[in-house]
Amino acid sequence: MTAHSGRHFLQIPGPTNVPGRVLNAIAQPTIDHRGPDFADLTRDLLQRVKPVFGTSGPVVIYPSSGTGAWEAALVNTLSPGDRVLAFETGHFSTLWRDMAQRLGLVVDFVPGDWRRGADPAAVAERLAADTAHSIAAVMVVHNETSTGVTSRIPEIRAAIDEANHPALLLVDTISSLGSIDYRHEEWGVDVTISCSQKGLMLPPGLGFNAISEKALAAAPKARLPKAYWDWAPILEANERGFYPYTPATNLLYGLREALLLLDEEGLPNVFARHNRHAAATRAAVRGWGLEILCADEREHSSVLTAVLLGEEHDADKVRQIILDRFDMSLGAGLSKLAGRVFRIGHLGDFNDLTLAGTLSGVQMGLELAGVTVDPAGLQAALEVLRAE
Ligand code: PLP
Repeated sequence: MTAHSGRHFLQIPGPTNVPGRVLNAIAQPTIDHRGPDFADLTRDLLQRVKPVFGTSGPVVIYPSSGTGAWEAALVNTLSPGDRVLAFETGHFSTLWRDMAQRLGLVVDFVPGDWRRGADPAAVAERLAADTAHSIAAVMVVHNETSTGVTSRIPEIRAAIDEANHPALLLVDTISSLGSIDYRHEEWGVDVTISCSQKGLMLPPGLGFNAISEKALAAAPKARLPKAYWDWAPILEANERGFYPYTPATNLLYGLREALLLLDEEGLPNVFARHNRHAAATRAAVRGWGLEILCADEREHSSVLTAVLLGEEHDADKVRQIILDRFDMSLGAGLSKLAGRVFRIGHLGDFNDLTLAGTLSGVQMGLELAGVTVDPAGLQAALEVLRAE
């Protein structure tokens, strides 16, 4: 391995760069998780975390990755044999489908080409056809991290309402929360699933479920087996400021600091920053003469851009050159996109010059890999950054 000086560029779409203030917070001594200081921390955090989800309701925090939070949402609301509606938007929606099936749910999986989000018209059509109301939940990945496509949740909610259908709406915001505008309560989402290592700028290790009143009411009737993931004992212990297991104390210190950082910048400014960086990245990709994987202008992700290369090029080779020469990690193409795309993460603790450096590295790496690119791409991105 070549020795590199300077800081590694971690430009995968999560885990993201952890700010120094968050790292310092995590480095504080671990305290008694049954003592009064911990109770104060929990109560404070459980309030502070709500605005990021856009909710006034409860948020359960698990010591888990996002996959655990997926499972928690399903087992707390559904019963064996329940039908759920899901959409093939990419690698992560497919993994969530697989999990639902393994848990004993029957998944209606709307096929997709991995270049678009969940289609609100398909939601309307499927739910209107379900006159017996046998579909218990609609599962949507808000930001499909494998493709750089953001589904239109308000339109999906409107489609459910138009069909006058009682299905719960479960939304994965694992790579969008704290980076892309999201409103659990206003958009009528029943369970919002998220985790720590993306827009919240923490290391991996915390999973979240934000829960609507309707989902809370559904929980006692849900018969999928659950123990560790059960909301009820956690919510009950949270009342007193505790958890029914040993929580990830130091990550919770980090969460408090990360929420302070988001609050200081102001969530609308955080969202605008990500929108702007995404626009600059798209300007670079188009300027290079390359193709963006997302095929719908309304659905471009503000947190990552997936770049599709022609058949003659190997995207993994491009990433390898960029890693070796410039010490920058980019996201790989996942499952059926392996070798065809690379993903530029522009989320979390990130500023104009981080993006300028990132895009410089990508442009040089493409050139070194023999991909013909117009160097005007980088200039186009810098103009977007300079303009506002
Ligand atoms: N859903 C989405 C949209 C993701 O991006 C990821 C991980 O990147 C997951 C789910 C799985 O989360 P985890 O790897 O933390 O279990």
